[in-house]
Amino acid sequence: MSDCLFCKIAQKEIPAQVVYEDEKVMAFNDINPQAPVHILVIPKKHITDLVNLEENDLSLIAEIFKIIKQIAGEKGLDQEGYRVVNNCGEKGGQTVPHLHFHLLGGRQMNWPPG
Ligand code: AMP
Ligand code: ZN
Repeated sequence: MSDCLFCKIAQKEIPAQVVYEDEKVMAFNDINPQAPVHILVIPKKHITDLVNLEENDLSLIAEIFKIIKQIAGEKGLDQEGYRVVNNCGEKGGQTVPHLHFHLLGGRQMNWPPG
């Protein structure tokens, strides 16, 4: 989508600190980190949120979780643990309407989230 922030990052029209990229997926540092490690993992294809995820794109989610697992390992989070978050829609607290998963680590996470 032409006016979508994360589509622009995926297309390199807006810079980001990219930590992983392949044909279908990109991971980059969150601009406003909430933990020592705060990385966003997105499909390059525009999908607004999980509600709008179609059957055909389900394999992207497996790919994204594979990459999250890989990055968490590279960042040394395997032993201490980490959190993966998807905010979906208004009440889910989603602010950027392009599907993304937060990888958060490097500090103790609390529950329940706000
Ligand atoms: P959410 O609230 O789940 O939609 O998360 C959106 C996330 O995108 C927030 O954590 C923001 O800090 C982050 N964000 C917004 N703009 C940028 C940007 N230009 N580069 C990297 N992260 C961003
Ligand atoms: Zn988009």
